[in-house]
Amino acid sequence: MISNFKAENFIDAATLAQKILQAGSGPSGGLVEKTMQQARTVLRQAEEKGTNKHTLPFDLNRIDVSSAKVCAGSLSYISEGEQYDRCSYCEALHKRVYVKKPCSVCKIGEVGRQVMGMQFRKQF
Ligand SMILES: [Zn+2]
Repeated sequence: MISNFKAENFIDAATLAQKILQAGSGPSGGLVEKTMQQARTVLRQAEEKGTNKHTLPFDLNRIDVSSAKVCAGSLSYISEGEQYDRCSYCEALHKRVYVKKPCSVCKIGEVGRQVMGMQFRKQF
């Protein structure tokens, strides 16, 4: 929502703000009041501007925000059924084209590499 607003995609920012306000006011709501206040402010200002500067490669209205996945490498939407892998260190999601490449978020892990992780052992 904030990124869309800063990128002057006001229509998309308003769509996300409405989804946040709906999620926060529902029976399973409980979003932080600061987030709700940001959503109200963004919605009011975005509706005044009412334009999009950039065209997203997907329809924001058809995406379930609660389960949407974004590729950390390309910052694009990972559609339903599309394959993805995680960084071995920070578990950031990446599309399959980033497999065996350094993670674009932490720069430590490798995308798709299987690791054991950290283990704590008792000393004998
Ligand atoms: Zn990482």
